[in-house]
Amino acid sequence: MAVSRKIVLHFPKKLIDRPIVSRLVKDFGLDFNILKASVTPGEEGLLVMELTGDQRNYDKGVKYLTEEGVRIQSLSQDVVRNEARCTHCGACITICPSGAFSLEQGTRKVLFDNSKCIVCELCVKACPPRAMDSSF
Ligand code: SF4
Ligand code: SF4
Repeated sequence: MAVSRKIVLHFPKKLIDRPIVSRLVKDFGLDFNILKASVTPGEEGLLVMELTGDQRNYDKGVKYLTEEGVRIQSLSQDVVRNEARCTHCGACITICPSGAFSLEQGTRKVLFDNSKCIVCELCVKACPPRAMDSSF
């Protein structure tokens, strides 16, 4: 039976340069589609991907990743902004590891690009008026 799941991979620093993901294709016959990637020098790397393949191979691939030290989260949530609540204070810009927020020149408004979000939820806790929310 084929499965296809969206997952978030957290790579510890020591694994960032290793060809871990290509082994999913070579050794386990899985297909992957990278949805988002975020690597900050000196910190853990994050990869959001859709992983597809035969259920048995999928399970083996996930076991391999875990044994290598990769932490896996399933991506079942989405982070949204309540526009009416946002005061454009900018607190989220520095906290977001994937650069999903930016300051619009001229208007000084804080823009939110959901496609860059890796659902780490840091902004949910950091936003003073609680404008950011995670939903299933
Ligand atoms: S921290 Fe919250 S209120 Fe401030 S700009 Fe970001 S989303 Fe808006
Ligand atoms: S949850 Fe918030 S802080 Fe985390 S990546 Fe998404 S927008 Fe950025």
